[in-house]
Amino acid sequence: MQQLPIYKARAHSILSPVSGFLKEAGFTHSLNPSRNCTFACTYCYVPTMRIQAGLKPEDWEQWGKFTTFKENAAELLDRELRAGQILYCSPLVDPYQPAEAEARAMPAILEAVLRRPPRRFVLQTRGPLILRDIELLCEVSRVTILAVSFSLTTDSERIRRWFEPWCAPIPERLQVMKKLSAAGIRTFATLAPLLPCDPERLAGLAMEATRGDLIGDPLHVRAAKPRGATTWQPAHRIAQVRGFEQWLDPAFQSGVVDRIAQSAARAGRRFVTGPEGFGLLADLH
Ligand code: SF4
Repeated sequence: MQQLPIYKARAHSILSPVSGFLKEAGFTHSLNPSRNCTFACTYCYVPTMRIQAGLKPEDWEQWGKFTTFKENAAELLDRELRAGQILYCSPLVDPYQPAEAEARAMPAILEAVLRRPPRRFVLQTRGPLILRDIELLCEVSRVTILAVSFSLTTDSERIRRWFEPWCAPIPERLQVMKKLSAAGIRTFATLAPLLPCDPERLAGLAMEATRGDLIGDPLHVRAAKPRGATTWQPAHRIAQVRGFEQWLDPAFQSGVVDRIAQSAARAGRRFVTGPEGFGLLADLH
C-alpha cells in the first residue's frame, strides 16, 4: 500500500444534517472523520462535489493523495450526539481508509458512540481494517442499531485493479463480511457503484458473504442525474480505454440491476438500489 501524507486539523463540528440522497434514504446526520480518502477510487463521486460539504480546493484537486483527520472528532461527538439521530458514516470518505491504520480515529469515535448512542449507526466501508475494531463494534451493537454496509463493486479482480487499485482484493472483502456477520454484526453487501461484472456471479458472492438483502447503485451518469455528485473523470477514461462504455449507459445499467435483482429473488432476497436501498440501512429495527 502506498504511504501518503496524513494531516490533522481541529474541526468546528463533526455531525452534519443530511440532504438529498441520504435524507431521502432516512438518515438524519452524516459523520466524516476526515477530509479526503486515500482509497482514491477512480470513480469516486466526492471530488466532483467541489466546495460542497466542507471540502477544500486541495481535496478535490488532489483527491486520494493525502488526508486530513479531524483530531477533535470524539470531543465534538460528545457534544453533538443525540439519542434520535440516524447516522451515516461516511458519505465523503471511507472511515476505514488506509490512512486510518496510522491515524486510529475510529476507536475514539466508536467510544463516543458508546457513551451517547444514537438511534441507528451505519458504517459504510470497503476497508478490511474494520476488523481491527470488531470488539468495539460488538459493544456498539449492544447500545444502538449498528449496521455495516460493505462495498463490493465487481466480481472481477482485473476490473477491481483497473478501477480501484488501492482497495482490498475481492476475496479479502468477502472474508471481512463473513467475519463481521459471524461476530453478530449486521452486515450488508453494497454493490455500489456497479463496475463491469458478471451480475449473477457478483450477486452470488454477495449473498454467500451476507445474510440480508443486497443494496446497490450503478455508476452515476449525467444522462440520468444532470446535477450534483457524479462519477469522477478517471473512471470514464478507464471505461473508454478498456471498452466498458456501456456500463455508463442508463439503459444497460438497468439491465444489470434487473439481472442482480432476479438472482437475489431466486434466493428469496431483494436487491434494492438508490435511496430506497440505502433506506434499508436507515430503517433497521
Ligand atoms: S472509498 Fe469511497 S470515499 Fe474513498 S475514494 Fe473510494 S469511493 Fe471515494
